[in-house]
Amino acid sequence: MDSILLGTALIFGAVILVCRTLRRLLKSNRRRRPPRPPSSYRVVGRNKRGRPIYEHRQIAERVLKRKLAPGEVVHHINGIKDDNRVSNLCVMTVRDHEAYHEWQDRLVKKFGRYPKRATRIEKLKAHFAGLILDDAS
Ligand SMILES: [Zn+2]
Repeated sequence: MDSILLGTALIFGAVILVCRTLRRLLKSNRRRRPPRPPSSYRVVGRNKRGRPIYEHRQIAERVLKRKLAPGEVVHHINGIKDDNRVSNLCVMTVRDHEAYHEWQDRLVKKFGRYPKRATRIEKLKAHFAGLILDDAS
């Protein structure tokens, strides 16, 4: 009887040890992944005032067949500022854009990772009046 108890306790202990080791391994792998190099906006020219003309804004205007309004920004859905594929762009107001990033930052802080693409797109559309360019093209 005692040996059964001892055996159970040993197995239980071993399982806990393996779980802890696995968790530590997963965590350290996450930390060791090299950070993505910082991306910046693609500039395609200068306007007559010498201000940069951004590719992502130009693409948004082409897809929407209109000029962007003064308070409108073009958000990069995957966070990569030079990934200007139409499927990565979303037009929204400065105000909604800030609120969206606050929401996203809160989730990143809480869960240690970015929400899934489908979740981000759903949120952009339903809560931040985001205009997904892929839907508009
Ligand atoms: Zn953004």
